[in-house]
Amino acid sequence: MHRCIQCGHQEIERGTDEVVTGPVGGPSFRAVIPADICGNRDCGEAYYWGEDLQKADLAAALKLVARERLSGRAHDFCRKVAGLTFEELGRHYDVSPRRLRRLSRRQKPVPASWHKKAAAIIEALAQNLGPLPEADEI
Ligand SMILES: [Zn+2]
Repeated sequence: MHRCIQCGHQEIERGTDEVVTGPVGGPSFRAVIPADICGNRDCGEAYYWGEDLQKADLAAALKLVARERLSGRAHDFCRKVAGLTFEELGRHYDVSPRRLRRLSRRQKPVPASWHKKAAAIIEALAQNLGPLPEADEI
């Protein structure tokens, strides 16, 4: 990036910035990720790379699946992080996409078998994407 989209300033510095994910069916998560920061101190706009934002989401999803219970909404966040449609995940779980969609709107925990499979998907993704930022629940 050569120029700040907000203010037109031409000095962009490489740095880090804090991003917040959520609320994800309850909690929100905070992570510090690499960012391009506008050098104009009155502006200070931060620009992120899609992959870094994806890693922040994935770090939050990892925290969610590690919990004792996974709410329908948190489960749906994990589905989106994995980039899966209801149809694709339904095939993987061997349940109807309709049932998945319905349960994903709830705060109530999903079945333990779904939780286990979601955890496996998210953990495999985390392995593939390499080092993740630390996601702290806020
Ligand atoms: Zn700027």
